[in-house]
Amino acid sequence: MSIRIGIVGYGNLGRGVETAIRLQPDMELVGVFTRRDPAQVATGGAAVFALDSLADRRDDIDVLVLCGGSKSDLPEQTPELAARFTVVDSYDNHGQIPQHFAAVDAAARAAGTTAVISTGWDPGLFSINRLYGEAILAQGETYTFWGRGLSQGHSDALRRVPGVAGAVQYTIPAEHAIERVRAGEQPELTTREKHDRQCFVVLEDGADAEQVREAIVTMPDYFAPYDTTVTFITAEELARDHTGMPHGGFVIRSGASSPGTTQTIEYRLQLDSNPEFTASVLVAYARAAARLAAAGDHGAKTPFDIAPGLLSPKSAAELRAELL
Ligand code: NDP
Repeated sequence: MSIRIGIVGYGNLGRGVETAIRLQPDMELVGVFTRRDPAQVATGGAAVFALDSLADRRDDIDVLVLCGGSKSDLPEQTPELAARFTVVDSYDNHGQIPQHFAAVDAAARAAGTTAVISTGWDPGLFSINRLYGEAILAQGETYTFWGRGLSQGHSDALRRVPGVAGAVQYTIPAEHAIERVRAGEQPELTTREKHDRQCFVVLEDGADAEQVREAIVTMPDYFAPYDTTVTFITAEELARDHTGMPHGGFVIRSGASSPGTTQTIEYRLQLDSNPEFTASVLVAYARAAARLAAAGDHGAKTPFDIAPGLLSPKSAAELRAELL
């Protein structure tokens, strides 16, 4: 029997989940559940329902994939919905994950549901690779580099600078720093040494380019701690060249198994679309969540708690024969 999925929230990630489910042999999409007027939400074909109508759908949904924002949607929605459904979310506010876990765990245990939180790629696949690195190379250093990737938060910060009509920001991992890590040097790297920030900015009519540049590169927290370049472009160039949402990065563990014997583990993602990839990860974890729920393994889980075989549509016997 197919795993019946509901999507809660239809933004970039929700759209990605709709696309990803079509590629899965054992899943069917029940529909999208939104806080907005369903008539105003245009999907790629999925039925759209009001979020409130979930109250009546308990028996025809196996897993809800929660696609709200981490800032204010998921802290409320995940515990609330875990009290009624098995759920998966991509909560990415790293510093608050323990609190989020505790709130979701209490709701899921009380209700007898399973809730996989903080999956995706970071947190998610990168977290698992940091764990493998530390566990296997007990002595060493772990490095995470992000990019080349579009940063939504930094792009928003640029758009708030007076004189800016439109802008995007890319985070670029510093090639020199990556080479030193790959060479086994285990360097101590400052924030400035690890990543650069590249800004593409459209000026408002009459704005002073030099003033705008200065306001950007000196912005505390966002740009001042980094080497930041600002390139002024036209609105046409922004629309033509900067609408994608690429991202990716590296997790590198560099260690020594005995004096002078360097061992390096590297995991790399290069993504044309951050939301479509994150959605693909969520969908694989939805399969694991459905299986855990069916087996009576309830409560909150993170990617650290999920056995890899549960992510695959193949049986354990097929996996042993084909991939081991
Ligand atoms: P969006 O801002 O596109 O969507 C968030 C929510 O906003 C939607 O669920 C939707 O809820 C609402 N919304 C979307 N579009 C509109 C609109 N036009 N008007 C009004 N409301 C709208 O966020 P993303 O999908 O890009 O990202 C969601 C979260 O995914 C991020 O906050 C981030 O935390 C997480 N993420 C995690 C990653 C990981 O590796 N773990 C990687 C990437 C992202 P509704 O339909 O109910 O209105």
